[in-house]
Amino acid sequence: MSRDARGAILTEPGEPLVVEPITLDPPAPNEVQVRVVASGVCHSDLHVKRTNGWGMPFPILLGHEGAGYVEEAGSEVTGVQEGDPVLIAWRAPCGRCEGCRRGDPRHCMAHLRAKKRAHREVDGATLTPMLRTGTFTDRTIVHGAQVVKMPADLSMEKLCLLACGVSTGFGAPINTSPVWPGASVAVIGCGGVGLSIVAGAKIMNAGRIIAVDIAPQKLEWAKHFGATDGVDASQNDPVEAVRELTGGAGVHFAFEATGRPEPVEQMVRMLHFAGRATMVGVQGPGAAATLDLGDPSLGVFENKITLTVSHGGDVLPQYDFPVMAEYYRDGKLDLDFMVTKVIGLDDIEPAFEDMQAGRVIRSVVRLGEG
Ligand SMILES: [Zn+2]
Ligand SMILES: [Zn+2]
Repeated sequence: MSRDARGAILTEPGEPLVVEPITLDPPAPNEVQVRVVASGVCHSDLHVKRTNGWGMPFPILLGHEGAGYVEEAGSEVTGVQEGDPVLIAWRAPCGRCEGCRRGDPRHCMAHLRAKKRAHREVDGATLTPMLRTGTFTDRTIVHGAQVVKMPADLSMEKLCLLACGVSTGFGAPINTSPVWPGASVAVIGCGGVGLSIVAGAKIMNAGRIIAVDIAPQKLEWAKHFGATDGVDASQNDPVEAVRELTGGAGVHFAFEATGRPEPVEQMVRMLHFAGRATMVGVQGPGAAATLDLGDPSLGVFENKITLTVSHGGDVLPQYDFPVMAEYYRDGKLDLDFMVTKVIGLDDIEPAFEDMQAGRVIRSVVRLGEG
C-alpha cells in the first residue's frame, strides 16, 4: 500500500501554495485512506490563505471538497470497503457532544477526525488537513465516519461539489431555513454557493426566487438554476428592487452567500413581515453590520425578523449527500453546469484568481483516474 502522495500546501502565512511530495502514516483502525480523484476549489480554501490559517496551525494541507475511492479501511470501519467511491465530509457528528445528545447532530460541536497522518516529505513536518479533510492531494487519511458512499455510476468530478459548496448552499433553504411552497425568496451572491441556494429553494417549490448579484453573468446562471427574477445590484439598490418586485411586501426568506456584511444589512431590510434572513457566507474577522432595530416599517423588532446562520447548509452528510446525488441523477441539481473548469494540482492559485474575478462557478482539481 503506497503512502506517498503530492499535495498543495500552505507552508507559512503569506506564502503562495506549493505543490510537493507528502508521506502518510498508516491509517488507525477507525480511519480510512482515500485515493482522491477530484476536489473542488472552494472559497473557504482561499479564506484559509487570506486569514493566515483560519486558526489552523501551519503547514496546512488545503482542499476540503474531495471525492475518491477507499484505498484502505481500518479494521473498525464499517459501511465502506476497498474500492468504494466516496465523498469526504468535513462534518461527521461525534454522537457525544451536547448538540448530538439532545438530538441535534446538525449542530454537532465536536466533529470526528483522523489523527494528523500527512507529513511534508522534505522535513517530515506534520500537516494540518484543512477542515479535517485535506483533499488537494491524491491520497489522504480521514476518520471512517467522514467517508460517505456514493453511487458508482455518477461522475466523481461532479459529485465532489456536494462535499462543501453545493451542500452548503443547497442545505440552507432545506435544513437551516426551510422554505415553504409558494414562498418568496431572495438570494444575494450567486457564485457556486448562491446558485445552490437557488436550486434548493426551487426543490422546495418556492414561488418566487429573486437572484441578486453585481455580475450579469451570475444572474444568468441563477436563472438556469431556477431564479425567476434577477437584480443587478451594481445598477439598483437591492432592497428597493426586491421590495418593488414583491409589490412592496418584501420576501419571506433572504439568503446571503457573499461573506460580506452589507448584504446582511440588506437582507434584513428586504424581508416580509416575520421574514427570515439566513447568513451562509463565511464572514471575516472584524466584520460588522448595523441593523435598525426600531424603525417602524423595516426595523428588526417591528418587522419581527429572524436572523440566523447556516453552518455549511446544516447537512448530515451520511444522509444528505446520497439524497443530493440522486437529485443530480434526476437532473434537479445540475452539477454538470457548475463545473466550469477542470484543472491540475499546480493550477490552484490561478483558480483562486478565476474565483475572485467571477469567471467560474467552480474549478475542480483532477487528481487521478476514476
Ligand atoms: Zn456532536
Ligand atoms: Zn468549502
